[in-house]
Amino acid sequence: MITRTPTALQSGNATHGEDASEGVTLTPRQHSQDWQAQLRDAVRDPRALCRHLGLDPAWLPGAEEGHALFPVRVPHAYLSRIRYGDADDPLLRQVLPLERESDSVAGFVSDPLEEAEHRPRPGLIHKYRNRVLLIASPACAINCRYCFRRHFPYAENSPSRAQWESTLDYLRQDTSINEAIFSGGDPLASPDRRLAWLAERLADIPHLKRLRLHTRLPVVIPDRVDGALLDWLAATRLQTVMVVHINHPNEIDTHVADAMARLRGAGVTLLNQSVLLRGVNDDVETLARLSERLFDVGILPYYLHVLDPVEGAAHFDVSDAEAITLVETLRAHLAGFLMPRLVREVPGEASKTPLA
Ligand code: SF4
Repeated sequence: MITRTPTALQSGNATHGEDASEGVTLTPRQHSQDWQAQLRDAVRDPRALCRHLGLDPAWLPGAEEGHALFPVRVPHAYLSRIRYGDADDPLLRQVLPLERESDSVAGFVSDPLEEAEHRPRPGLIHKYRNRVLLIASPACAINCRYCFRRHFPYAENSPSRAQWESTLDYLRQDTSINEAIFSGGDPLASPDRRLAWLAERLADIPHLKRLRLHTRLPVVIPDRVDGALLDWLAATRLQTVMVVHINHPNEIDTHVADAMARLRGAGVTLLNQSVLLRGVNDDVETLARLSERLFDVGILPYYLHVLDPVEGAAHFDVSDAEAITLVETLRAHLAGFLMPRLVREVPGEASKTPLA
């Protein structure tokens, strides 16, 4: 259970992250060091989420409705960075299901990136010329309400070893492919022995140069960055790039900073992609703090995505005009190398489309 001081309970505006930047600091939950136990122990019930965070019970019916569409999942390590009793907390907004998720909004669809058109093998998405995406895990540690894959048919895309061999053949035969990307779900939700096996097979393909991992796990459960992960990352001949997913500076606590240091120690290049989200990070001050904080912990800001129009997430949308104005203003606050590129993913395009 989370232990809180009486002061924090009274203020209703405190943090129980041990190094959150503002508010009263509460005793952090004692996390198990075993990341898999932390995965299993994640909050998966709207009632428990509301109770842990001291939310007004009025939030519960909407949370139950959203949960029926896309289940709640929040690990305690992430929960500990959310301010107690604050329904406006920018981290909470990313994970709290809402009644509005059942609204039908024109243009918001189940497969906004039309990925079904680009799946030549189970678990393989080939959209861009020289890189492919491997669905290395059907699961995530956290369920982000705005996720563009919230309706993805993972059951059809969880390859067996034999099916991976067919996917590897596809990669062997196309010598234009020089980069493989582990995606998901969250690829790091898979056990290391499975990931290490796949990384070894990929390293045997001579024209592959890079292995990229798109993951949120080192952010939401920093203990995921353990010796077993670092061992296979450091051992592969492929250049390793990790694109983490952080939307708000409050997501980076000392545990996340330490995890990033361990990854850099294993020779991993760290980049970040964020999604521009209404009510979470749609202001210049937050985006500037995010870039600064990312660089403090050794991560380069890479992309700021506008929302992919997925069914259930329309309430997070920020218009293109607003996004462009935000980013143009942001430029005056940041050194050039701290500026993420504002992009949209357009189905059928050869790469991401820059907006500003
Ligand atoms: S971690 Fe990534 S893939 Fe998983 S729900 Fe969040 S945004 Fe989607």
